[in-house]
Amino acid sequence: MDSMNAILSEFVKEQKIAYFSMEIGVMNEAKTYSGGLGVLAGDTIRSAADLKLPMVAVTLITKKGYFTQELEDDGTQVEKPAEWEPSDYMTLMPARTHVNLDGRDVAVQAWLYIQESLTGGRVPMVFLDTDVEGNEPEDREITFRLYGGDDRYRLKQEAVLGIGGVRMLRELGFEVKKYHMNEGHASLLTIELLREYKRDIEEVWDEDLVWDVERIKNICVFTTHTPVAAGHDKFDYRLVDEVVGELLPPHILRKLAGEDNLNMTLLGLNLSEWVNGVAKKHMEVSQSMFPGYEISAITNGVHSYTWTCKSMKRLFDKYLPGWANEPELFVRIGRIPDAELWEAHMEAKRKLIDLVNERTGVGMDYDTLTFGFARRATAYKRAPLLFYDAERLMEVTGGKLQVIYAGKAHPRDIPGKENIRLIFRRMRELENRMKIVYLPGYDMKLALDLVSGVDVWLNTPQRPHEASGTSGMKSAHNGVVNFSVLDGWWIEGHIEGYTGWSIGSAPTEVSLDENADEQDAKDLYNKLEEQIIPTYYDNRHIWTRMMQNAIGKNAYYFNTHRMMRRYVTEAYIR
Ligand SMILES: *Cc1c(COP(=O)(O)O)cnc(C)c1O
Repeated sequence: MDSMNAILSEFVKEQKIAYFSMEIGVMNEAKTYSGGLGVLAGDTIRSAADLKLPMVAVTLITKKGYFTQELEDDGTQVEKPAEWEPSDYMTLMPARTHVNLDGRDVAVQAWLYIQESLTGGRVPMVFLDTDVEGNEPEDREITFRLYGGDDRYRLKQEAVLGIGGVRMLRELGFEVKKYHMNEGHASLLTIELLREYKRDIEEVWDEDLVWDVERIKNICVFTTHTPVAAGHDKFDYRLVDEVVGELLPPHILRKLAGEDNLNMTLLGLNLSEWVNGVAKKHMEVSQSMFPGYEISAITNGVHSYTWTCKSMKRLFDKYLPGWANEPELFVRIGRIPDAELWEAHMEAKRKLIDLVNERTGVGMDYDTLTFGFARRATAYKRAPLLFYDAERLMEVTGGKLQVIYAGKAHPRDIPGKENIRLIFRRMRELENRMKIVYLPGYDMKLALDLVSGVDVWLNTPQRPHEASGTSGMKSAHNGVVNFSVLDGWWIEGHIEGYTGWSIGSAPTEVSLDENADEQDAKDLYNKLEEQIIPTYYDNRHIWTRMMQNAIGKNAYYFNTHRMMRRYVTEAYIR
C-alpha cells in the first residue's frame, strides 16, 4: 500500500490534464486498441511524456482485447479472442470505486502504467477494470472486450469510463484542471462532474440553476472524430434509465444530450467550452452537422519516433540529431544524400518483402513498385477501388506493380468483411498477372513494417468520411509518398507531384454520398500510368525528391508533438 502511494505521490503533486479515451494503443502487446482512434491516443500520450506535459490518461483495461484476425482461403474473417495479461506490464492499485449499473453497485479497480520518455517525462495511465472479485459474472465482463457486445454492454463500458474514471481519479488523489474527452465515448464524465459540483443552494427559484453547466464547461475539452451523423454513439433513454438510473432530472439531461436519445457527441459539445475536429475539413463538416457550436481544428499527427523504421531512424540520427523530440528538424531533410535516403528505404522494403514472401510464398521482388493499403476494413475506406476496372489496371501496370493489403473488419461490419472477400477474389482472378497479398492480423507492429516498406501509400476513402486518417502520416515519416483521395489530413498535406499525388476531384462538398467510384478509379489509373510508374522506374532523382518532401513537408508538420503543443496553447491553458 505504501509503495503504491509512493509511486503516485510523484504524480498527484501537480494538477493534471485528464485525457479520457475508450481505447489507447499504449504498446502492441496490450490489446487495448482497435485502430486509428486508439493509436492516436497512444501517440498523444507518448508525445505528452516526451514534452513533460502534466497529464494523466484514463481508459479501459480491455483484457480480452479487440480480436485476433484469421483469414480463410476465400478471405472470410475469423475472430479469435486476443487475451493478454495486464500484470505483465502494469501495477494493480489498491484503490476501488463503484458505479451503479443495472441497479447493482459494480466495483471498479485500476491498473497503473507509466509511460516513460527518454526525456525524463512520465505520464501515468489508469486502466479501469471491473473484473473484481465479488462483482456479478456479467459485471466482471464489462471491461473485457473493446467495442464488443450490444448497446447495453457499450453503455456500461462508457459509464465505467466516464463516471468510474472521474471517481477513480479522485480515489487515487489526482487533481484535475481540464478533462479532455477523446471522442464521445467518454462524455458521461460531464454528468459525473455536474453531480459533483451541484450547487448547494437551499432555496433555488429555478431548479435548472442547481446544475452548474458553465462551471463544467470551463474545465472540459472535447475532440470529435466522426464526420457522419450515424457514427455518433446514441442510447435510448429507456436503456439509459435501466442501466445507469436517473443521472440528472430527465428534462435537464434531455436539454444537454438530445430530446430523442442520449447523444454522446451532443453531451460532449454542450458541456465543453472548447471543441475541435481532427483536420480542417473535418472541422467544417462537423460545423455543418452541429450548427451553432464553435468548433476549432487541430489536425492530427503521429508520434515521430514510434512511426519511423530502424533504417530511417539511423539516418535521421546521423544527419538530424535531436529529430525525435523536435520533428521540426525535418526541415533540414535536404542534408541527407539521395543515395543514403534510397538505401535506408530499400532496407525497410527488403525487410517487408521478405516478411510477405515468408508468410505467403507469393514471391514478390525488391525492385517492383509496391503499393500498400492497410486500415480498418469498412465500406467507406473502399479498399477494392484499385480493382474497379481490373482490365484497365492490367493495361496500365503490366507487371510493374505489386500490392500489399491488411486490415480488420469490425465483427459486425458485414460490408467491411465483404470487401476483404472481394479483394481475395480479385487476388485469385489476377493471380498470374499481378502479385497481391492480404496479410492477416493488422496491428501496430505490422503497420510500421507496411508504412515503411512499401513505395507508395494508397488511400481511397469516400469523401468526406475520412475525418483525418493517420497512416499516411506514418508513411511520410519513412519517405513513403502518399497517393490518396483529397480528404482528411491529405487536403492539408498534399502538393501535387511534390509531396505525392491526389486521386479524384477537389474536396469541395460538405455533405456526402455522391458516389464518385468511377471518376476516382479513372483518375487513379491515369495517374499511375502517366506519372507514378514512369517516375518510379525512369526518374529516381524526382522520386527521391518526393521522398524528401514527404519527410520535410509532411512528417515535419503531421506529428503529435506539434499537435500536443497546439492542444496545450489553444485548449488546455485558456
Ligand atoms: C495508424 C493505424 C490505424 C489508422 O490508420 P488510418 O489510415 O487512419 O485508417 C489503424 N490501425 C492501426 C493498427 C494503425 O497503426
